[in-house]
Amino acid sequence: MIATQIKLSSPDELSITWDDGATGKIPLRALRDNCPCAGCRGETVLLKTYKPEPQQHLPGRYNLTGIEQVGHYAIQISWGDGHSTGIYTWEILRNLCK
Ligand SMILES: [Zn+2]
Repeated sequence: MIATQIKLSSPDELSITWDDGATGKIPLRALRDNCPCAGCRGETVLLKTYKPEPQQHLPGRYNLTGIEQVGHYAIQISWGDGHSTGIYTWEILRNLCK
């Protein structure tokens, strides 16, 4: 499963076309709220799960400022509040697609 085209279909929605011909849309809000990075999701180290710190919601939190492809398996998204550590694999994106 590979995304063949990713674009903003509206100011607050991402539109993705997949190599099997399917297309899907992901609201930027859902994309950001499901950020897969350790800071947002928490992480499990040696069987102990660390919960993320409560986050401040800064202005620009849901403004997409950049998308960069990571290898052949994921994209890295930058947000208006400066957050850019989330690596979204195709699998994560496909699961978020409506
Ligand atoms: Zn994050």
